[in-house]
Amino acid sequence: MAESKLSEYRRKRRADATNEPFGDEGSASTPTAFTRAAKGETLEGAFVVHLHDATRRHYDVRLEVSGVLASFAVPRGPSSNPDDRHLAVKTEDHPIEYLEFEDVIPRGQYGAGPMIAWDRGSVTYLEGPAEQEIENGKLHVELRGTKLRGRWALVKLQKKKSGATAGVHGEREGKGNEWLFFKKQDEHADRERVLIDELPRSVLSGLTIEELERKEDIGRALVARAARMGAPARKGDVPPAEAFPARTKAEPASLRGARWRYDPVLEGVRVVASREGGAVTLRTDDAPTQDVAAFYPDVVRALRALSVDAFTLLGDLVAFDGSGHPRAELLAERARRFASGDAARATTEIPVVLMAIDLLALGERDTRPLSLDRRRELLSALAPGAGFVRTSSPLRGDVRTVVAACAEHRIARIEAKRRDAAYPASPDDAFRLLETGVTARAPVIHHGGATTREVTVTNRGKIFWPAQGFTKGDLCDYYAAVAPVLLPHLRDRPVILVRYPDGIEGKNFFQWNVPPGLPSWVRTLEFKDDEGSRKRGFLVDDPATLATIANLGCIPLHVLACRVPRLEEANFFTIDFDVKQGSLKDAVVLVETLRELLDEVGLPGFPKTSGQTGLHVLVPLGQGQSFATARALADLLGRLLVDRWPRIATMERIVKRRGPKVYVDTGQTGPARAIVAPYSVRAVSGATVSTPLTWDEVTPRLDPRTFTIETVPPRVERLGDLMKGLVTATPDVERAVEKLARIVGTSTGSTG
Ligand code: MN
Repeated sequence: MAESKLSEYRRKRRADATNEPFGDEGSASTPTAFTRAAKGETLEGAFVVHLHDATRRHYDVRLEVSGVLASFAVPRGPSSNPDDRHLAVKTEDHPIEYLEFEDVIPRGQYGAGPMIAWDRGSVTYLEGPAEQEIENGKLHVELRGTKLRGRWALVKLQKKKSGATAGVHGEREGKGNEWLFFKKQDEHADRERVLIDELPRSVLSGLTIEELERKEDIGRALVARAARMGAPARKGDVPPAEAFPARTKAEPASLRGARWRYDPVLEGVRVVASREGGAVTLRTDDAPTQDVAAFYPDVVRALRALSVDAFTLLGDLVAFDGSGHPRAELLAERARRFASGDAARATTEIPVVLMAIDLLALGERDTRPLSLDRRRELLSALAPGAGFVRTSSPLRGDVRTVVAACAEHRIARIEAKRRDAAYPASPDDAFRLLETGVTARAPVIHHGGATTREVTVTNRGKIFWPAQGFTKGDLCDYYAAVAPVLLPHLRDRPVILVRYPDGIEGKNFFQWNVPPGLPSWVRTLEFKDDEGSRKRGFLVDDPATLATIANLGCIPLHVLACRVPRLEEANFFTIDFDVKQGSLKDAVVLVETLRELLDEVGLPGFPKTSGQTGLHVLVPLGQGQSFATARALADLLGRLLVDRWPRIATMERIVKRRGPKVYVDTGQTGPARAIVAPYSVRAVSGATVSTPLTWDEVTPRLDPRTFTIETVPPRVERLGDLMKGLVTATPDVERAVEKLARIVGTSTGSTG
């Protein structure tokens, strides 16, 4: 329990005298959503590294474990050089609220002195639950912070040193609690960089630890500087709708000369951020009257920590992908998770940064009449850090060089501003917008509940299945009818679309990109195909998007077995019983045997018709499994089936050698392998549907051709989604692998 874990923390502090969080009894703010396993085993969570100037200056590395923060005091701080093994003294667990702490601990209190949030991010425990790892004295973690990235280790020292070292908090501590903290070799290891010198500032306030004690003075001095520059007194707030400057297109040739500054337009959400004391509002370009601050607690916290307590600034909210590029899809994903109540975890897994580019007001000063150069100077003093609020540096130099450099970085647009101009007050003196020739992508991020979107089906009467007379309208009606059971299987997965604009007998083609003219709210994402080349899949999360793609003439829907943002994890695997040469009767025997095997090892399985002639069994894996594990499981099961039924089953890849046997295909599991989704229509005569079945329906009397766009909707009405468990099951995969290995061992023993 968190309460007992925090007893030492509380014993050392006085609730009425310290400004630190005390870890409220039964506090509901504990983001237990990070604790993945039901058994209370922590596999991932949040982390913070504080720089703490107490009796001795040190860094406190704090990792979320069992709802509290396991804490290690590291006097020499983190080093990106794997050769540096720095002493880390394990101290008392801290309450989870400490993730947000940055302040000066009052004199006379335990740990008195300034403490800044030096880094913040998410942690994954790489070799098992953190609780066990700590017990064993070895913690291998992956850190995804602003500064600390990649794999790190904490290893407990076995040999006790003679006597305890003087503790960093002024007491004798450390004996038996000594660990080493070091970087593991990976692409983030660096023997040259000295992170703690290079990036000394807080990720919240942007201040150094020395500055934190003078925070108010620094803020006052900055406002005074704005006044000296000639910024007049503020007269009320800038109306939100007027805060966003107009942008007019311009040709690079018109912008020659040294008086221009250039800001690349990042993929993100343009916002005006205002703070008045503790109140922060964030307003977006497309809905200036709506405050979206609730969606960005990480950014709000950082804005509240800045040295000046009132300001208005212009910037872009961005989320970076693994290679450091801003990606609007990540923002959209985060907003969706917020809307579905998964805010704590979304904030940790998809951090957002505010890239500030202009300043409208500072303290009681209106900074808009100042020149751009002056506004940027004040802005970078207000937000000098590299954390959750950053000031981006405008590009300068020859406009052609700037355009070429941005094009090279796949940046579609650039804002150009005159160095000596005031903040644009009317469209006449707008920011100039340059295009680089790269195609702009502007996925829309929805803040708040779902909005109603109307999709009109075009050419409803067009015949798509000539033999049966089914039309495009019938296809669209079918997908609308099954949307409630189909969407949970599509949600967050890359969906691969094959379009049949003239029905099943016309030409067909893959639709990799959102075609021109489609609504901007249709979401897509990039992934790599089998050959490693980049493809763009659709994300189909709502009835409107489903209607949109049906209206494009997409008949079959194929999905990958993974979900954003973790495309490297397999959520299920598939065993395909292909009866092109064998018989369905034999396939039924094999599916029954597979069911027994799955029961034996404790894995659920879900049968469905392929929609053509064969059968599929889908096996859920929950979260955290690699595609290698998924494929190995599929292969092992396939081999067992062939071993038991050599006369009717084969895994032979060469078609001619299969004979009249059922081909047990386990090759449909892989990071880029797509499988036909449950309830997907097939582009074959009869408009058959890949239909989830009960195990009892898998008999020799089964006729897959009876499941069509006509018969499946009433069936769904009656039975609901028979495959619901594919999405919700969390089986014990490790245990299943062990059991399966034993079965394989026995079966090899008996035959060999
Ligand atoms: Mn400390």
